[in-house]
Amino acid sequence: MKSSEFTKYSVISRNSFNDRDILIIEDSEPSSLRINSLLNKMGFKKIHLSHTAASGLYQFEELIKAGKTPIVFLDFLPETDILSIVKIIHQIYLETKIILFSRYESHDDKIIKMISDGIYRSLKTPISQNDINQLMHNIESDESYTDVEPLVDLKLEDLLTKKSNITFEDIKSCGIDIDEETHQIIEELKNKNFIVENNDVTLPSCTKCSSTNLNSKHVCVICHKSKFQKKSLVEHYDCGNISSHDTYVSDICPSCKKPINALGVDYRILKNFVCLECNSSFSEPNLIFSCNQCQNNFELNDANWKITKSYSVL
Ligand SMILES: [Zn+2]
Ligand SMILES: [Zn+2]
Ligand SMILES: [Zn+2]
Repeated sequence: MKSSEFTKYSVISRNSFNDRDILIIEDSEPSSLRINSLLNKMGFKKIHLSHTAASGLYQFEELIKAGKTPIVFLDFLPETDILSIVKIIHQIYLETKIILFSRYESHDDKIIKMISDGIYRSLKTPISQNDINQLMHNIESDESYTDVEPLVDLKLEDLLTKKSNITFEDIKSCGIDIDEETHQIIEELKNKNFIVENNDVTLPSCTKCSSTNLNSKHVCVICHKSKFQKKSLVEHYDCGNISSHDTYVSDICPSCKKPINALGVDYRILKNFVCLECNSSFSEPNLIFSCNQCQNNFELNDANWKITKSYSVL
């Protein structure tokens, strides 16, 4: 039995990879019709054709607004510079896969440069059915549509039973990984009264991969180890002694043996944390994030921030 058959959330239907929207930006009509028919043969039906960069970008934006995450096929258009189109597309939706039609081999310097600038793959024209099949299978396995499917329901069940407040990103990280599918699952969870939408929340996100699937820990500001104690330090103004509160036995300064009486007059309470590794004291520990997606570590100050939808579990 598949694990997905166990959970009450398995009523949520999911799209298959073939339901993915595809946007072809190609000025030559015969070429775009040809690609269209190759994709049709693979079972793709939601194909959008555009013959100029401007109309392509417009269609792309409309698809994103509608919660879709199209795969983009792009030809070397005469009127615009490819990299500026790639940049605009990625500004709208960073994870977009852009496939470039070109007359160059994939190991050509021009193509290698383009791949480092964000192109997903290039296909050398003329393009065969085999090229398209291979490409789409690569994308499918990169996005692991099939492998994680049975796990999604279990993770979703786990999330919805353990937490009372969840975010779009929480649902996405149940192994769905694709915005469009996540939107769809959320719609169904809402329709079936499993969740209800709340105010948006702002989450820290990874500086490298922008994932919000992060672990956090508090660490010593000096040695970055996470072994410290909350301790109030007392500074005696008169003699300058700084030591922890418990060294002032009966309110007597351990250094000059004079009594300390009034806070703010005789003494002040200084720093609140003492590192048990390096003995440093500090007023506030640093917050460090480690990304569960790419293992990147970064500090709170450097984090990127993402506004995301949040929901209450009913
Ligand atoms: Zn990351
Ligand atoms: Zn330390
Ligand atoms: Zn003293």
